[in-house]
Amino acid sequence: MSHYTLKCRKCGTVLKEAHCAFCEHCKDALLLTDYKETSFTEKNSGEIWRFNWLPVHDPKFHQPGPVVFRSKGLSEKLGLENLFIAFNGYWPEIGAKITTCTFKEFEAAVVLENARSNGIEGLVVASAGNTARAFAHLSTVSGFPVIIVVPSMCLFEMWYLEASLRIPTLVLEDGDYSNAIDLAKRIALIHGYPFEGGVKNIAKRDGLGIVLLEAVSKIGRLPDHYFQAVGSGAGAIGVWEMSERFLRDGRYGSRLPALHLAQNLPFAPMVKAWNNNSRELSSEDLNPELIEQITTRVLSSRYPAYSIVGGVFDALHATGGKMYGIENNEVLADMELFEKTEGIDIVPAAGVAVAGLRKAVENGHVDKSDTILLNITGGGEKRLKKDMKTYMVEPVFVSGKITDKEIEELCKRLKVN
Ligand SMILES: [Zn+2]
Repeated sequence: MSHYTLKCRKCGTVLKEAHCAFCEHCKDALLLTDYKETSFTEKNSGEIWRFNWLPVHDPKFHQPGPVVFRSKGLSEKLGLENLFIAFNGYWPEIGAKITTCTFKEFEAAVVLENARSNGIEGLVVASAGNTARAFAHLSTVSGFPVIIVVPSMCLFEMWYLEASLRIPTLVLEDGDYSNAIDLAKRIALIHGYPFEGGVKNIAKRDGLGIVLLEAVSKIGRLPDHYFQAVGSGAGAIGVWEMSERFLRDGRYGSRLPALHLAQNLPFAPMVKAWNNNSRELSSEDLNPELIEQITTRVLSSRYPAYSIVGGVFDALHATGGKMYGIENNEVLADMELFEKTEGIDIVPAAGVAVAGLRKAVENGHVDKSDTILLNITGGGEKRLKKDMKTYMVEPVFVSGKITDKEIEELCKRLKVN
């Protein structure tokens, strides 16, 4: 017997052990993982597998988690009394050992383990950069095969550790992240490995929700506010879903943390829709030309999980959340602010989150005594390079116009099992 089932958020239909499924009645709703244990428990180990609310059975590899600590420097600068930082990256001085420097490592670890325990033999993954690095690393660590597709505009941030260089990484030369998703889905159909499923994969969202599991474990309660930069929205939805489980448990607070989510202007389709009180994204705000103008390419999804039942719109509504648009110059300034006040470098997406927090303080959206969790979704790349050698990915370039026949030949040539 599995320790969980999947349940449709809209109609309540229960599915058993399905991988990456949708409710047969409602194609417009996300499934939720329904864990039999309603009390939060953790085993005695420092790894992510110690948490009971993960959709995995018998993980075969080690996976370090986030490090959550009480801020001193940034909190003083912003005048906050209870600011906690979830640091996801490499910073061995505080015990942070994520060598891909991104929280996507938790997603990749849980998705691969969940797929393996569902009898899946390999996955096709699309990424805007950081997810690719995370899946390549976990494929190396776990031996579970993946094929990775990234858009060429994200190539400049595509670095791997040496061991991951052998993981097949295709670079779409004519298209953006969303086109890379389309290509990954085609490769999946032809090759036979499923597409990892994006935001509808419950393992992805529960994996990203590990940040909240770690935070509640450390702080002893749900935070009042949660800050994160969003691209597809999967991480924020995962945190909302975890916070609902804590609420049902009853020992960690009686209010869902308010989600404060930020995007990089001018490509900020969810910020614009939310500020218009609209469940629908406008096609004007999804214009690919806007993506060329942002610093934070990992946030460039044109297919965010915003409108879908159980998506970002519903999460913001349920939690009394807010959205923030962040200019490029603010991203850079707040990356510097964080490094100066906390002593570690962070990635641009995390700079977007810091800027969101700064704006919330300036606009009085949080009180100085509130318990706040800031998700630093990636950091320590500069620190890592002092200890380890990193390599730019040696990509296999592909055009979106590639034929099915050519995809078949390519998969053979790459010796994907
Ligand atoms: Zn349903």
